Amino acid sequence: MSAKARHPRDVPALRAALARLRLPGGQGGAVARARALLDVYLETAEAHGESFEATARALRAGVPAIRLGGAELSAQTSQPGNPAESAACAPGCAWCCVLSGPDGGVILEAEARRVHAALAPLTGQPDGREWMDDACPALDPDTRMCRIYEARPMICRTYLSDDAEACRAIAHGTPASGPGVLGAQSVYLAAHSLARAALKGLAQVPTYALAKVAAEALAGSDEEAALKAARHKPKVLEDERARMGGSL
Ligand code: SF4
Ligand code: SF4
Repeated sequence: MSAKARHPRDVPALRAALARLRLPGGQGGAVARARALLDVYLETAEAHGESFEATARALRAGVPAIRLGGAELSAQTSQPGNPAESAACAPGCAWCCVLSGPDGGVILEAEARRVHAALAPLTGQPDGREWMDDACPALDPDTRMCRIYEARPMICRTYLSDDAEACRAIAHGTPASGPGVLGAQSVYLAAHSLARAALKGLAQVPTYALAKVAAEALAGSDEEAALKAARHKPKVLEDERARMGGSL
């Protein structure tokens, strides 16, 4: 049998491939959770008669990862005593919007398109980099409020801290403890990584830099040009998953 013949060609084959997949960096709790949720997603897609092509397109764009991650986030933050209850986060407290990491904030295709659509009407306006060099361009430099709050990606929804001063220190390059990401972020990343592995050889499953998409949108680039400029190298997703090892 050739390698090509092993690629899934329908949703049941995709589910079977998903059950067998091994991800680099271990198969911890987030991977197990993502695998189980993704299987339910695929089962539902199949039950609704969604074509393999449409399912593969959704996986490529990160649609299931975003939905599953969002559901995990809602479940996590509804638990009594969850880390969000003691967070110091408040409107205009934007140290976490300083994206000084090398990846510029990892987001998925569907998120990148939403960010672009939300910022395109603001083309030419001042952006977050007028406040701090590495600030997210989507930030209003005067009010330090996110201008795309409803369209903000998963990383912005899961990052929090019980100490704003620690966030300020990190934004200025000094390591500090306090901030972290909720576990839902690890499930979202694992789901996208599983989608990538399941579609290997059939479709590329990219990630994008939030800061770059936002900057391109504000500079007037159209959606495709912005996504092309912001596309990560494949290893960035696995690097990001490895960094999330100690999520809240
Ligand atoms: S994560 Fe830190 S910088 Fe961001 S809102 Fe919360 S306390 Fe403020
Ligand atoms: S999208 Fe909004 S919340 Fe996220 S980093 Fe940019 S300004 Fe901050």
